[in-house]
Amino acid sequence: MPKPAGTSGYNGNSGTLYTDALAAATTAGYTPGNYSFVMVCMDNNTPGFSFAGLGTVGGNKTWLRAEGSTYAAQVATHELGHNLGLNHAQSYVVGGTNPIASGGTTSEYGDPYNTMGNGDYLSPYNGRYKLYLNWLTSADYLTVTTSGTYRIAAHDKSTATGVRGFKVARTTSQDYCVEYMSERGGSQATYSDNGVQVRWGPTGTGNGKTQILDMTSGSGSGLTDAPLALGKTFADTPNSVYLTTLAKVTGASFDSMDVLVNVSDSPLPSPWTAGDIGTVGVAGLSSFANGTFVVNGAGADIWGTADAFQFVRRSLNGDCDIRARVPVQTTTNGYAKAGVMLRESTDPGAAHALISVTPSNGLTSNIVPRRAVLAPMSRGRRSTPLQTIGCA
Ligand SMILES: [Zn+2]
Repeated sequence: MPKPAGTSGYNGNSGTLYTDALAAATTAGYTPGNYSFVMVCMDNNTPGFSFAGLGTVGGNKTWLRAEGSTYAAQVATHELGHNLGLNHAQSYVVGGTNPIASGGTTSEYGDPYNTMGNGDYLSPYNGRYKLYLNWLTSADYLTVTTSGTYRIAAHDKSTATGVRGFKVARTTSQDYCVEYMSERGGSQATYSDNGVQVRWGPTGTGNGKTQILDMTSGSGSGLTDAPLALGKTFADTPNSVYLTTLAKVTGASFDSMDVLVNVSDSPLPSPWTAGDIGTVGVAGLSSFANGTFVVNGAGADIWGTADAFQFVRRSLNGDCDIRARVPVQTTTNGYAKAGVMLRESTDPGAAHALISVTPSNGLTSNIVPRRAVLAPMSRGRRSTPLQTIGCA
């Protein structure tokens, strides 16, 4: 190199350094033009430069000042990601327990699971970024518009095939991006292995920035435990998007996660309707797709004098025959209930008969009247419409 390494040399002039380095490489017998990307490396003590790495988005130039440091590989994959067209991987963090509450902080490098954020070199580009790069196709990374269960393979496992993630619309300009990684080490390993990562990303397949969301907002562990853990539900009630991590599926060569999606784009078939009964705290959502009702509901219990739950219902009079199967129930509480109910009205204190399953207390039956008012119904008040449900 024509200039010395000290402050009397390049001293922060990355352009001249690059030009001189390529000339030196040419003199040494290389042809820089034969390479898609050219990275100029310097010792991490080189004075006058404030960056660890520098790369142009969509270009072919990168500078690496981290040579010899423990994070050189991390910076190299980051800068080359820029050359490939990727932007930074951000995070969105709030102060409270609602991960998408307004007024949160967007951090430019905040994603610890992505080397385009502050993840180490073992962090891949996230699935949504791989979709932009065409490393994943639209067949690998689904656009989900229908409620149901979707199985996603670990996108950081080289042997994985099939669906490696999906996006579901939050608004007309923003999606939820849901992905799974099984190969993380260190402090993130447990959370990564047993949960799915949820990010906001721009609609479409462009290279707009993603923001990882903290599914355990308020835990005090920052974004290390950001994934949506097995058995947990994330609810964006204003936009009617509900995500539940149902099960981990261990395969011979790669693992997958089953994720239940509940969106309002999958309406109930007539004459079924849905709504919350009583004071539930978090608004519920029910949908129907492929022969299955998906019911998300909150509320303390179906018990005592005032019930609180999500109620999928239709009116009927007289005798009836109802058959339902509950293939999946998440463990929000050992006594959480999902089943079939005959209910006199939508009043929280209405008489009813209920057969339900619970996560850890088996089949429960409230066929025995727990309210005196049920007695007239059991004698057949046929003038009063009865209602049937699947409830949660
Ligand atoms: Zn960068």
